Parts: sequence; C-alpha cells; structure tokens
Amino acid sequence: MRKSVVAIVGRPNVGKSTIFNRLVGERISIVEDIPGVTRDRIYAQAEWLASTFNIIDTGGIEIGDEPLLVQMRHQAEVAIDEADVIIFLVNGREGITAADEEVAKLLFKSNKPIVLGVNKIDNPEMREKVYEYYSLGFGEPYPISGSHGLGLGDLLDKVVSHFPEREADNTDEQTIYFSLIGRPNVGKSSLVNAFLNEERVIVSEIEGTTRDAIDTHLHKDNQDYVIIDTAGMRKRGKVYETTEKYSVLRALKAIERSDVVLVLLDAETGIREQDKKIAGYAHEAGRAIVIVVNKWDTIETSEKSMKDFETKIRAHFLYLNYAPIVFLSAKTKKRLHTLLPSVKLASENHAKRVQTNVLNDVVMDAIAMNPTSTFKGRRLKVLYATQVAVKPPSFVVFVNDPELLHFSYERFLENKIRDAFGFVGTPIKLFARKRQ
Ligand code: GDP
Ligand code: GDP
Repeated sequence: MRKSVVAIVGRPNVGKSTIFNRLVGERISIVEDIPGVTRDRIYAQAEWLASTFNIIDTGGIEIGDEPLLVQMRHQAEVAIDEADVIIFLVNGREGITAADEEVAKLLFKSNKPIVLGVNKIDNPEMREKVYEYYSLGFGEPYPISGSHGLGLGDLLDKVVSHFPEREADNTDEQTIYFSLIGRPNVGKSSLVNAFLNEERVIVSEIEGTTRDAIDTHLHKDNQDYVIIDTAGMRKRGKVYETTEKYSVLRALKAIERSDVVLVLLDAETGIREQDKKIAGYAHEAGRAIVIVVNKWDTIETSEKSMKDFETKIRAHFLYLNYAPIVFLSAKTKKRLHTLLPSVKLASENHAKRVQTNVLNDVVMDAIAMNPTSTFKGRRLKVLYATQVAVKPPSFVVFVNDPELLHFSYERFLENKIRDAFGFVGTPIKLFARKRQ
C-alpha cells in the first residue's frame, strides 16, 4: 500500500530540518552504513501511532542560486505536488513575516490539507504567542518545540487525521511492477519511450494512485508488467524537476511501489556519486534490482568493453553484487530485448520460496565445509534455518547465541544460500534468533 506523504514547508531557519530529524529519529542511520549514501536526506520514513508515512523536508531542495523567494516558491510547489498533507512551519519567536505570508499565499491555492506548526515555543509560558498565527488563515496553530520535542504529538494527530483512505496497490500478484530510476539525463524517458514504441508489446495507460502519476501497462511473452510513474518521466517542465535532490525524491516514491527497480547508468558519462546514492536507496528498500547501462551505442563495443564496464560497476556498487547488468541503447533499441527477461528473472527470485528441508541441507553442508569458530571460548551452534518471508527472501537461522554469529560468517551463509538457490537480482536477508 502506498504510504501517505507529509511535506514540511516554511521559510529558512524556522526549524524544518530539526522537526524532520526528530520525526525520523534513528531511522536515518540505517542508510548511513551503505557507502555512497550521504546523510543529507530530505525524505525518510516516520511513524506516529498506527501510521507509517513518508516525510519530506522541502528546505533541503535547493535550486541553483535562485533568490530566496524563488527557492521558497519551488519548495512549496514540491510540497503541493508530492504531499498528501503539508506542515506549514513558522517561527513563534519572530511573529508573522512577509516571507511567511508569501508561503501562505501559495499554500492557500493548493487544496491540500495544511497543518500550521508554530515552532520554538520551548516552554508553556510562551504558548499564548500562537494566537496571532490564526490570522494566517489555516485554522488552529499548533505550538511546538522541535529542539525540545514538545507539542509534536498533537500536531501529528492532526496531520494523521488528514491522511486519505488508501486502497491496496499492486493487488495483482501476477503482474510485475517495475520502475526506472537514475539521475537526470541517464535516459529514463527515452527507455520508457523505447518500450512503448516496441511493436511486440501491448501498452495501455492506467491512472496511478497519486495525482498526475500515470503507470503504463505492458504485455510481453505472456507476462504482464506495469512501469511505475511514467508521467514523471515524460511530461516534465517544472524548474525543480532537474535538481538532484528532487530526482532522488522521485526515485524514492517509485521504489516504494516497485517489485523490481531498474537502476540506470549512462555509458557515455560513466558512474557518478549521484548514481550510487540513488542505487543505495533501492538496495535499502529490499527491492529486486537490475542495473541498466544505457547509451551503449556511444561506446566502441566489444567483449572487453563490456567486461571492463562491469568490473567498474562491481567495484563502485559492492552492495549490489546480486544485480544483473544489462547493456543497451534506448536510442537505437540495441539489446533492448534483453531487458524484460532480466526483470522477470529478478522478480521471480524476489518472490521465491525455498523448501525448508533443502535449505537446511544447504546450511548444514556449508557448516560442515567451514566449521564455526569459537569466540571467547564458546562455539556457535546452528540448529536450523527457515524462510520467513519473500520480497525479499528472508531467512531466520536459529542458533545457540546470536552474539556468536559474526558478520563474516553470516555473509558466508548468505552466499551459500544465494549460490544454492540462484537468487540473481534480489537481495536476501538473514536474521539470527536464539534457540537452546
Ligand atoms: P530550517 O532552515 O527551517 O530547516 O531550520 P533548522 O531546523 O535548521 O533550524 C534553524 C535554527 O533554529 C537552528 O539553530 C535550530 O537549532 C533552531 N531551532 C529549531 N527548532 C527549535 C526550537 O524548537 N526551539 C529553539 N529555541 N530553537 C530551535
Ligand atoms: P532522463 O532525464 O533520465 O529521462 O533522460 P532522457 O531520456 O531525457 O535522455 C537524456 C538525453 O540522453 C537525451 O538527449 C536523449 O536523447 C539521450 N539518450 C537517451 N538514451 C540514449 C541512448 O541510448 N543513446 C544515446 N546516444 N543517447 C541517449
């Protein structure tokens, strides 16, 4: 099910990133362990009571060196386009400024639910300051303190009350949902168009779950596919859409609804930092992944050029060692036919269940071959393993003491399972649980 999206909007220094970090809490650190993924996130998952939602700090979207007012306008537009609910944040210590009024004007026209947060109300005596903010016209102002964590509960109750009712997405288990992600200009729209112009695929457009998200349905070789959010790739034109941060945001939304994510690279310009950041999010989300090297027509091709490029990719994307690599050209359609079979294979592996007895044979053989070592005089004992989930395949290994399972041994078991069952294209997860 698609999660609701909340955006925080307001002029600089009102406390947007402070509130964002507080709502997101420790989740951010999950990403920091992956090399190449930076800490300057503008999008993350947050929780309140029974709701899990995604939150955007629009203050992190900077567009070139545009003047402040223009930046604020773009940030408000992002919020209006992307969010289900907007938190409009002001500074309770400074009163209403001209810049606040400017933001208010834009938000007024949006038809989105707006919750007004008056920040920096650090103690109860300051609460009466909030009354003047009624004049902004967004109803009750919520006094909060980002740095002290005060008042956030009431604010979030209000935010959550505006979440739209959701229907389940991706209900059709037979259909493979995939998305194309990558930095601007790698060729995402060209590749979608190449698919759509291919004669042997049958195409129809279906309305997506968000306003202006259009998905495209393909049928090829007895398999149904849906390409997620083709609208986002085809009708572009807004200023902020070419910014790096925004392209990450768009990618995150697409990843959310996908079974398989195609990470596009550009053969002509080579691998960039931004590519790693974007790929890191897909990996973190546990989706199946296919790496697509586009613009292969610009390279003098030979067996060697492909091998060399592959070596480079493997070195830069260590954590994606399971992802197959497809070389193609959206422009000439060369090797385009190799893509959907890879997507299908990755998707099947992502949803694969293995038999418990076969799994245990694999695990026990692995242990016989490479016995567990002792740690502080104690030896790890592996009792048995079982698959507990799919998408991605997740395994629990019952052991005498999870502390004794070292990272490197865990990796070893993971690789043995991977080799035995051929999980090409999908991450797998391994958890250790204590059992005497
Ligand atoms: P942004 O530009 O809107 O993202 O604002 P920041 O989150 O960077 O905060 C701007 C400044 O306000 C920082 O120095 C914060 O420490 C401070 N600040 C944020 N929230 C509060 C608060 O609740 N009370 C006080 N006193 N200061 C705050
Ligand atoms: P997007 O921003 O990722 O959607 O990228 P576009 O699809 O808009 O492509 C960016 C530029 O790369 C355009 O000028 C395309 O014509 C060009 N391009 C896309 N695919 C290929 C390709 O396979 N080969 C070559 N030579 N150029 C391509």
